[in-house]
Amino acid sequence: MSERFDVVVIGGGIVGLASARAIHARRPSASIAVLEKESSVAAHQTGHNSGVVHSGVYYRPGSLKAELCLTGRRLLLDFAEARGIRTSPIGKFIVASRAEELPALEMLEGRARANHVPSVRRIDAGELKARAPGVEGVAALDIPTAAIIDYPAVARALAEDLAVVGGVRTGSRVRATTARGDGWTLDTVAGEVDAGFVVNCAGLECDLVAGLMGVRAPVAIVPFRGDYYHLGDRVRSTITSLIYPLPDPEMPFLGVHLTPMIDGSLLAGPNAAIAFAREGYRPGTFDPRELQRLSVFPGSLGMLRRYGGIAAREWLRSWGPAEFLAAIRVLYPAARRTDLGARTSGVRAQAVRPDGSMEDDFVFVHGPGALHVLNAPSPAATASFAIGERVAAEAGFASAS
Ligand SMILES: Cc1cc2nc3c(=O)[nH]c(=O)nc-3n(C[C@H](O)[C@H](O)[C@H](O)COP(=O)(O)OP(=O)(O)OC[C@H]3O[C@@H](n4cnc5c(N)ncnc54)[C@H](O)[C@@H]3O)c2cc1C
Repeated sequence: MSERFDVVVIGGGIVGLASARAIHARRPSASIAVLEKESSVAAHQTGHNSGVVHSGVYYRPGSLKAELCLTGRRLLLDFAEARGIRTSPIGKFIVASRAEELPALEMLEGRARANHVPSVRRIDAGELKARAPGVEGVAALDIPTAAIIDYPAVARALAEDLAVVGGVRTGSRVRATTARGDGWTLDTVAGEVDAGFVVNCAGLECDLVAGLMGVRAPVAIVPFRGDYYHLGDRVRSTITSLIYPLPDPEMPFLGVHLTPMIDGSLLAGPNAAIAFAREGYRPGTFDPRELQRLSVFPGSLGMLRRYGGIAAREWLRSWGPAEFLAAIRVLYPAARRTDLGARTSGVRAQAVRPDGSMEDDFVFVHGPGALHVLNAPSPAATASFAIGERVAAEAGFASAS
């Protein structure tokens, strides 16, 4: 016999777990289960990211990213404090390396103002040098509210809290679905689960899960791998803040940056190379099904036309340290090949429209008896608690207050 829950969330990343939490807060009597295909929560994007709590500077004023990043970061930091999860308010510098980048820096300063990000201030080359030794630029934005956090610890704490209402079922890949008059039967590798309502937060597989539930997603997920290098003590001992370049305005990614992590290590990355596998954590991983999907996806050609040059550069950067070192040296000119240590990577779920352009905002799509989160890339970890609130509201669970 299958188990039945009022609500089933597919995906035990931070967005799925925060959505389950928000639904529970609004409907305490509802039984809620989270189905996760891996053996633990936070196994993909949530556990393979830069660990940054963003401040809300980059995002188009009025966008969901701007709104939910600002409200979500506060909810996230409050939760972390209440649960004793480590965070550190180390601040960020966004650096203009050349005079030609100053208009872009000014544009970001304007966005920070429009998004009501507190305490953002332009600093000159001298102040940057004094506050971030070894970092060079002609000017920078000083963003003191940026922080770092342990996202997997947040996900584990959320999962613990859900145990009382249903809990997280790991090892439960959803592989087929059947619509019923009163909800869904989800066929998982661990058996059948019945759901009154389903929330799809399957990250890298969210469009595939939507397809299983009869929804033709308006976007397709293209996996973009981000590689990082650990930097050795020589650089690590000098970098105490987040150091970011100005982002490429053509891309929704933030560029190779220097990131002190909550465990005390220092990472440089991530680049953004198309991965030919949803979980393609290593260059050279090809999933024939993914290649087949890309070959019939109408957006592939448009994507190649729009981003072909950038894609080739990022692809090269993912194969060896030389191109990577060049990107690091833009921010930290004294970096040497010997500073680069072990490599690690994450894969972003980035939605692409049928015309090949990248979707720049979070996307929620209603389906019968379900809500599908179809684009939740960065800053979705920062915004996760606010995304959860949005999901609960869109799914029709009235606010408790
Ligand atoms: C390299 C990189 C750097 C980033 N840096 C930052 C940052 O510094 N700050 C920030 O705010 N954001 C950052 N992000 C973005 C952030 O990590 C993601 O937006 C966020 O983690 C998305 O959470 P999620 O729950 O939607 O996805 P995920 O964490 O990927 O979770 C989705 C889950 O669904 C499961 N799943 C998939 N299919 C099925 C199925 N059929 N059945 C059951 N389970 C399934 C997966 O196993 C997975 O655990 C970064 C992302 C990457 C990749």
